[in-house]
Amino acid sequence: MIRNVIIIGSGCSGCTAAVYSARANLSPLLISGSEIGGQLMLTSDVENYPGFPKGILGPELMESMQKQAERFGTEIWTEYVEKVDFSKKPFEVTTSSGKTEQAHTVIISTGASAKWIGIPSEKKFFGKGVSACAVCDGAFYRGKEVAVVGGGDTAMEESNFLTKFASKVTLIHRRNEFRASKIMQDRAKANPKIKFMLDSVPEEVVGGETVEGVKIRNVKTNQVSTLPCTGFFVAIGHQPNTKVFKDQIKLDPNGYIITDGRTRTNVPGVFASGDVMDSMYRQAVTAAGTGCMAALEAERYLESLNHH
Ligand code: NAP
Repeated sequence: MIRNVIIIGSGCSGCTAAVYSARANLSPLLISGSEIGGQLMLTSDVENYPGFPKGILGPELMESMQKQAERFGTEIWTEYVEKVDFSKKPFEVTTSSGKTEQAHTVIISTGASAKWIGIPSEKKFFGKGVSACAVCDGAFYRGKEVAVVGGGDTAMEESNFLTKFASKVTLIHRRNEFRASKIMQDRAKANPKIKFMLDSVPEEVVGGETVEGVKIRNVKTNQVSTLPCTGFFVAIGHQPNTKVFKDQIKLDPNGYIITDGRTRTNVPGVFASGDVMDSMYRQAVTAAGTGCMAALEAERYLESLNHH
């Protein structure tokens, strides 16, 4: 059987692509990864997804999206994609259990994962004061002191954003020079609520039930101090999940899939949506939006095949 569409990934983007292509009678197969739901499974309250004035828990929102996709006939396989072959038509997608499926179109919605520093306490306090998304969690720190780690544009942007809520933001960076663009640096430096701790690395997040501070080592003096804070934001970049597509479609130097503004990749019939092609917005609602676009583009592409 040659499928109409295989969707890879089950975050907001993949689920939305599934809802749209299932409703278009394309009987999509969605290959979800080890767990359905993507990055929102790791957050608690989502307050900025339109339609939920009281907010909604990330996992609850994803369960609803999955049900909506299944309601219209999406088939879901809870496994990984291990290999793809886009060099021949129909395309081939091989899963971790060794099954190879053929499809006329593929939508890649494998997302991106936040990079973590790699200290054990960071995991322990994840969702209890440790976050990798200021836009998602910043509003919980009204009047509180928070810390941000990183020296790129993301760290500058998140620090600035957090000053809308926090009383003080300490930006911790491992060098004394920033990788961030000058304009973003200048903006952060001009913000009176942002303090800088340079040549410094976090050694341990400390607290009881939730974060109370972070132990920081100065890499030049080796002196260790504890910075009190209730929020600890890791902003050292994201890694798009594109390893299996590396030799099959065009990626940008950071590993994001290159699309043409209409979710089309350089391979006709292969589309990409959500964080795997978007390093800029990375929001649930934008991921859902591009998932919808990819499904409509896949439908359009399938129609063009039938006309030949
Ligand atoms: P990035 O530019 O790669 O910067 C990552 C930062 O985190 C670097 O300063 C790096 O330090 C630090 N870092 C990496 N690993 C670390 C570790 N284990 N411990 C401590 N620090 C660590 O990533 P990004 O800031 O996410 O930006 C990614 C891309 O998106 C860039 O091209 C950026 O321009 C773009 N972006 C643009 C905007 C905007 O224009 N509005 C906003 C956000 C992002 P070192 O410098 O020492 O390596």
